[in-house]
Amino acid sequence: MEKVALLKCTEYDVDLIEKKLREGFELLGGDSYLRNLIPENSKVLLKPNLLSVVEKGSPVITHYALFEAVIRIVKEYSSDIVFGDSPGSEDTKRAAETSGLIKVADRYGVKFADFNDAVHVQVENPLIYKFMNIARAAYEADVVITLPKLKAHAMMYYTGAVKNQFGCIPGISKAECHTKLPDAINFSKMLFDINSVVKTSFAILDGIIAMEGNGPRNGNPKEMDTIIMGESLTAVDSVAVRLIGYHDVLTLPFLKAAYDTQWGTVLPEEIEVLGETIEQMKCDNFKLSRNAKVVNFLTPSLSRFVTSLTAPNPVLVFDKCIGCKKCAEVCPEKPNVITFIKQNGKTIPKWNYRKCIRCFCCQELCPRGAIVLKEKAIRKLAGLKFKKNI
Ligand code: SF4
Ligand code: SF4
Repeated sequence: MEKVALLKCTEYDVDLIEKKLREGFELLGGDSYLRNLIPENSKVLLKPNLLSVVEKGSPVITHYALFEAVIRIVKEYSSDIVFGDSPGSEDTKRAAETSGLIKVADRYGVKFADFNDAVHVQVENPLIYKFMNIARAAYEADVVITLPKLKAHAMMYYTGAVKNQFGCIPGISKAECHTKLPDAINFSKMLFDINSVVKTSFAILDGIIAMEGNGPRNGNPKEMDTIIMGESLTAVDSVAVRLIGYHDVLTLPFLKAAYDTQWGTVLPEEIEVLGETIEQMKCDNFKLSRNAKVVNFLTPSLSRFVTSLTAPNPVLVFDKCIGCKKCAEVCPEKPNVITFIKQNGKTIPKWNYRKCIRCFCCQELCPRGAIVLKEKAIRKLAGLKFKKNI
């Protein structure tokens, strides 16, 4: 049985979060558990979600108070701690500064690791890639503790512990993964390849205020009052998705891929939830991502064709657009499927939907939340709208 601690924490107060995390570790085995997790003199990497340059406390990123509480505990077991992430398109250091994480880290002597410094490594027993570019700090760490944020995600439906490790791939190499792996199942297998190279020992999921709807960047904050902790990334995610309303965890492509490849523990009956119960903590009105690619079992070329017919289109919210062209910059499809036109005195993006692979990077990284996903009539007619109870 895989053990996962589920904790109720109602605010971003460092002392309170620290207390809760200590309760969680106590449930998992206490001091000896922690000593085993972080052996003496080990090099520890903390991997928060720093998706983008956003203000301190934003639900887009891991909260600085949770980050500080984790450092307080890890410091008791190791003095060699670094932290880092690689946002999709923006300056990593600036993202760390605006998030408030660097300020916290400085106070505790935790160094910032530049994830642009990468190593080219071989993947043992690869599911997708035999070789990968991985941030050196992630590859060389003895202990990696991932600190994801609980969010709805357009492409993957949900992002948490497994998806957070995508940030271990340095900036520009991420676009290539999207182009080569447009479907969620193969994309998930690539995430497992990352996680087999980067030995992630533990996950602490920040769901105190989560993100619902148009995530992972432009959704709405949602109070979940939740922290989830455990060694198995898939088990932590399996608990999280049940909290937000997915009754059958295998409807999530990445959990289905983990189950099929026996990569990680996924099924509820194989996970022991300690602390609070899922019944007590679940959120009945969490707005799930509107995307649901229903074509994950097809060949890549057929998948692309059916996806273009059925998956939602990224569309513009005209009033919010500032014409910054970031959407075109982050689009992995070359030649770019986004061009710009003038309309009512503004420069706005225009999509070529026939070429779009629906990776939703443009929606994810638009700094103004000016891109939303529009479901197609064909999906509604066919009853393919993704529902909580499937
Ligand atoms: S849609 Fe977003 S990213 Fe694209 S130009 Fe407008 S504001 Fe910039
Ligand atoms: S237009 Fe947006 S969704 Fe389509 S391929 Fe480019 S980034 Fe991905």
